[in-house]
Amino acid sequence: MNNGKYKGRIAPTPTGFMHRGHAKTFLAAQRRARERGGRLILRVEDLDGDRCRPEFTDALVEDLLWAGLRWDEGPDTGGPSGEYTQSKRSAVFVGAWRALRSQGAIFPCDCSRKDVLSAVQAPHNEGGEPIYPGTCRNRSTAFWSESEALESNWRMRVPDGETIAFTDENLGNLRFVTGVDFGDFLVWRKDGIPSYELAVVADDIAMGITEVVRGEDLLLSTARQLLIYRALGATPPAFYHCPLVRDASGNRLAKRDKAQSLRELRAGGMDPKML
Ligand code: GLU
Repeated sequence: MNNGKYKGRIAPTPTGFMHRGHAKTFLAAQRRARERGGRLILRVEDLDGDRCRPEFTDALVEDLLWAGLRWDEGPDTGGPSGEYTQSKRSAVFVGAWRALRSQGAIFPCDCSRKDVLSAVQAPHNEGGEPIYPGTCRNRSTAFWSESEALESNWRMRVPDGETIAFTDENLGNLRFVTGVDFGDFLVWRKDGIPSYELAVVADDIAMGITEVVRGEDLLLSTARQLLIYRALGATPPAFYHCPLVRDASGNRLAKRDKAQSLRELRAGGMDPKML
């Protein structure tokens, strides 16, 4: 936890090699933490067991060190790295799920991805993502046991037409409208794994994070996550969203674009100060 001091984090997902865009965002997080004399955590977001691999975690530590990043807590700092690795933190996530459930903030949902995609007249947001049509919103939330309940998908009950406004430390005032920009989103998956939205909020609260620095691609997630903070009765951190790094044709960098990976740039003799 923190004693009122700035605490930031960098939270990579080890599904591939880190690229220049990750480094730029993480360096911004480091700069913000240093400017305030705060601490920086490295948290490994490896909940997607099918796509995350331990060798990518090793690689990212090496690549981030090369890029000039240093963190105070997390892997490679001499402390127990398990405390900073999401796949080892399921108690934190079950705790958050329980709290949401006891508030009636979430509901179990049987719909497959395909059901949601094919729902008749399912509205879509501006980005073309379908808005959950509410199919399971009113179904019973009773289960025989907690472990049975944890074998279901659960969604956040998102109010209709509420404006979620926040001031981003980089981008200024932003607003999203619930039910238009996003609908009832997943917080728990029936394979026993929290969604990104729930895991990140539960961890940011548990780790006492005071400011989240991350890419602009997660702005809509921030709006969703603010609803989770509210339902948990927790004060949200400040947010600072960084512009995405794009390639020559204007597309955002992806882990599959090898040429921009920190590995390749290092192998090509790049000076990390030029990142
Ligand atoms: N792990 C997430 C990602 O790599 C970032 C999470 C966050 O910063 O909130 O996209």
